[in-house]
Amino acid sequence: MTTAQPLDVQPTPLALLLLGRAADPKSERGVECPGDLPAPSDPHLVERARAAKAKLGDKVFVLGHHYQRDEVIEFADVTGDSFKLARDAADRPEAEYIVFCGVHFMAESADILTSGRQQVVLPDLAAGCSMADMASAEQVAECWDVLTEAGIADVTVPVSYMNSSADIKAFTGRHGGTICTSSNAERALRWAFAQGDGAQQKVLFLPDQHLGRNTAVRDLGMSLGDCVVYNPHKPNGGLTAAQLRDARVILWRGHCSVHGRFSLDSVAEVRERVPGVNVLVHPECRNEVVEAADYVGSTEYIIRTLDAAPAGSKWAIGTELNLVRRLANRYADQDKEVVFLDRTVCFCSTMNRIDLPHLVWALESLAEGTVVNRIEVDKETEKFAKLALEQMLALP
Ligand code: SF4
Repeated sequence: MTTAQPLDVQPTPLALLLLGRAADPKSERGVECPGDLPAPSDPHLVERARAAKAKLGDKVFVLGHHYQRDEVIEFADVTGDSFKLARDAADRPEAEYIVFCGVHFMAESADILTSGRQQVVLPDLAAGCSMADMASAEQVAECWDVLTEAGIADVTVPVSYMNSSADIKAFTGRHGGTICTSSNAERALRWAFAQGDGAQQKVLFLPDQHLGRNTAVRDLGMSLGDCVVYNPHKPNGGLTAAQLRDARVILWRGHCSVHGRFSLDSVAEVRERVPGVNVLVHPECRNEVVEAADYVGSTEYIIRTLDAAPAGSKWAIGTELNLVRRLANRYADQDKEVVFLDRTVCFCSTMNRIDLPHLVWALESLAEGTVVNRIEVDKETEKFAKLALEQMLALP
């Protein structure tokens, strides 16, 4: 008779996420949308969104993340990545309501960076980020204890990706670290290593192991062996004190469920399917995919590269499908062929939770004077998270 072995992984809140039901106190995402949503089949949704937005006028500012659906992007006053959007909101102090069409951690960042009189609304509280959920405040505090035990906490600087909860950003600020985006991760790592004795200095990179590894190896010239992966579901992260002491970069075991799907097979298959294609991927992809690609960079880099590409060129893009489709349409009449890197559909399911019915509901509620789904970061968390964000702005 075989005895069932305990699973190596903890139960995740993913089922709740997929169902869009119930509260998960350990998750950065919230609860099911409490509102009375219009039916998706309502043929008047577009007019209703327009009317509510017109009624609100300058009081509302709608932010649309690059990965949002077209039906939502149509109502965005500005589009961009999460950090750009948060700053755009801060630059609009007259906008009392910031409607963030993105995911939960982005709305938190907007709340941190905007003034106290601006209220940030997330049209669906179930729009979280699976990557951000892979690092909870308790797990990261436990990790810091492990580093302290190993005698390396005082030579370790936390560097946290923008795609993390406000709690993790606050942890980063408390411990003298910085936030980074996929555009400035190299500068953030160089800054962190310059904070102490070169040979001893270490970085704890949270929560995306792939961005951390790709930046350390591709941009800073480290070896894969300089990086170790801390698994929060294993005692001591699954690492010995000696392994921690020998490492230069301690990568948190988190990843993006969208970008993590691209594989070497995707790259090989698209090169065969589209002869002469340039493969351009986001650094949240796995290291072997990044190594096999022709170009690697943030969402803004991807857009800039396609903008500058000559007519007749062909591009396979490894990032979220909503964005790739929009780019394919945008460049079609410039004779630039843009295809998705993988054959299978690859949307960010949580981003897609924000749809037109949720947006209409949020805008109409605001127009009636009711603030729904407000995202508010507590003052203590905000203070330290802001420190880490300000450190990012001060990166050399
Ligand atoms: S694309 Fe990835 S990192 Fe971005 S919100 Fe979705 S799961 Fe999170």
